[in-house]
Amino acid sequence: MKKFLSLVLSIVMILGLVACGQKAATTTASADGTATKLVMCTNAEFPPYEYKDGGKFMGIDVECAKLIGEKLGVEVEILDIAFDSLIPTVMSGKADFAMAGMTVTEDRKESVDFTHTYQKAVQAIVVPIDSTISSANSLEGKKIGVQTGTTGDIYCSGDFGDAAIERYSKIIDGFQAMKSGKIDAVVVDDQVASAIVEQDSTAFKILETAYAEEEYAIAVKKGNTDLLNKLNSVIDEIKSNGELQAIVSKYIK
Ligand code: GLN
Repeated sequence: MKKFLSLVLSIVMILGLVACGQKAATTTASADGTATKLVMCTNAEFPPYEYKDGGKFMGIDVECAKLIGEKLGVEVEILDIAFDSLIPTVMSGKADFAMAGMTVTEDRKESVDFTHTYQKAVQAIVVPIDSTISSANSLEGKKIGVQTGTTGDIYCSGDFGDAAIERYSKIIDGFQAMKSGKIDAVVVDDQVASAIVEQDSTAFKILETAYAEEEYAIAVKKGNTDLLNKLNSVIDEIKSNGELQAIVSKYIK
């Protein structure tokens, strides 16, 4: 099953590579060879981490990336692509890093290098307000909505089988499908679940029992230790001096 899953993931990655082959920008450098611009890829469908408001990129990752840019003295350009294209885009060098509430996993570590982690998350189970589903165990035999290529997708397809899974490129479409009765549950990162359920608290509830615990980090191309070290030093700094928490507090009350 695991072999099959990694084969599927590889195919998805290759397709992602093909899909993004043409569009992204690359790092620009000044005359002395130092980068003046870094391209960050993200998937701006993931409030409160990254989303668009009136055409403007907002969210915890977006503000952190801006702060990182300021501290490194470079401009950060945002490339908004599908979640399952993020790692292939970093691998191909079309973006310098991916920052997208991305969970560190052993599988992903085979494709990219991760910085120090900057946030913790859990996979939450969200169900319609009147649902009888009360835990991960009662998801057996139900239709579960996930965002394509996310850890929610990977864990649920492993535990409940592919037939149980409905994949969406935007998790908000999964919530819509659940509202119209097409699926029974959505599995998504807890803070994103809270942000979405807050807007629609008469329709959905988040189960108390978490599904899996994880940590977010920034992904860079394998072997790009120069950028990795720079990002790590800024992450360490903003974690210890409270700047990261100040950004998080703006978005998570
Ligand atoms: N944390 C999850 C993952 O890394 C979901 C991230 C997302 O959808 N942006 O797979």
